[in-house]
Amino acid sequence: MEFDLAEAKISDLKAAACAVIEARRDDLIALAQDIAVHPELGFEESRTSAKVAKGLEALGLSVERGIAVTGVKAIKRFGGIGPAVAVIGELDSLRVPGHSLADPDTSAAHACGHHTQPAQLLGVAAALTSPDVASHLRGSVAFIATPAEEFIDLGRRLERQEAGELGFMSGKQEMIRLGTFDDVDMAMMVHTSSDGELGKFSIGGSSNAHVVHMVKFKGKAAHAGGAPWDGVNALQAANVAMVALNAQRETFQNSDTIRVHGIITSAGVSMNSVPAEVVYEGRVRGRNSEIVDATAIKVERCFKAGALALGAEVEITSVPGYMALVNDPMMGDLFAANADALSGPGTALHRQATANRGGSTDLGDLSQIMPVIHPYVTAATGSAHGVDYLIEDYYSAVVTSASALAMTVIDLLADGAVNAKAVLKKSKPAMTREQYVSAQQARMRVTRYKGR
Ligand SMILES: [Zn+2]
Ligand SMILES: [Zn+2]
Repeated sequence: MEFDLAEAKISDLKAAACAVIEARRDDLIALAQDIAVHPELGFEESRTSAKVAKGLEALGLSVERGIAVTGVKAIKRFGGIGPAVAVIGELDSLRVPGHSLADPDTSAAHACGHHTQPAQLLGVAAALTSPDVASHLRGSVAFIATPAEEFIDLGRRLERQEAGELGFMSGKQEMIRLGTFDDVDMAMMVHTSSDGELGKFSIGGSSNAHVVHMVKFKGKAAHAGGAPWDGVNALQAANVAMVALNAQRETFQNSDTIRVHGIITSAGVSMNSVPAEVVYEGRVRGRNSEIVDATAIKVERCFKAGALALGAEVEITSVPGYMALVNDPMMGDLFAANADALSGPGTALHRQATANRGGSTDLGDLSQIMPVIHPYVTAATGSAHGVDYLIEDYYSAVVTSASALAMTVIDLLADGAVNAKAVLKKSKPAMTREQYVSAQQARMRVTRYKGR
């Protein structure tokens, strides 16, 4: 009856872990709420990152700071040799002017709920470092706070890249490149959602891959009233490009979940002068990297068409965006059972592996090289990335989510880490870290085109 003994022990371990998190519930929720009112943009999350580092140090862990600018990592090694599981918490906010908790200077706002993740991370760390739990686990767990999941502020990030501060332009991409995940075998995190149709927790599904474009249309200034014929209007070149780009949409297949969208971040400086430089930042998304690469060729043709029509020049900087998310089914089942145990049977909704709502995450990149899960907890109201996105159920977002993560790590690493070993045996990552880095580096290029 050794099996029953192990089962009983695992449920005791989970109960002990949940009790640790429950005892800290007020502090954890207060931390998330504090981060909500101190939002920080990607690669600038110094205050948030310091809170995570201090929290991990208070648990007796030795903490590596400043990875990929603001990232944090701490490892808890258990007895014996065994797999390493990472628990991830994202640090960054978006920019959403008009959000009720937006920073008045930067418009930074946690309109994607990432502020709950550092609190989850510290809850899981407290639970798994408590001696009653830790002494029964094998292998190790890495607590990793990741910068810059939102792919924004492209100009600033390209400057950082030129200055040698960054290789890739999102936190997890850069951490993969730097080798932060080299001693990790699998990873998990929980993201908030406001989509009631997903159930309280949802597991599985995919996300879009993408590439990012920074496009500079370059013309020639001239007096807009006196001699417009002497100028080359970069804004008109951009307009023609946008029209051409919209004409492409009928060629996109629904099943490929292609999204082409962007903003003009600079459209001229003096209205009485023909605009000489216009800057467009945009993305091409699709259900996998091959579809994205093929669509990006069409979109780049449209940028050139704008320059050709006006006799302008265009400089297209292509930046590797994210890869599609693959959720590990076995880890997902373990997480779902724990979510059900915490919040009642039927709490966890399984989504089809191909279900894709059009967004993207850099956990997708990690999922190409190791098994991961990216479940959602429905704990917010409003529209994701919108002015009204707010966490209304902090208990589920922080305490229940941390408990489900801790319980899932216990499932993986208790009993001689038998489940973690089974996950590794079954999973077939699409590529190695080296293959990932070279595939993404190949997407980084600058194309110049003279339209004459
Ligand atoms: Zn987001
Ligand atoms: Zn997010």
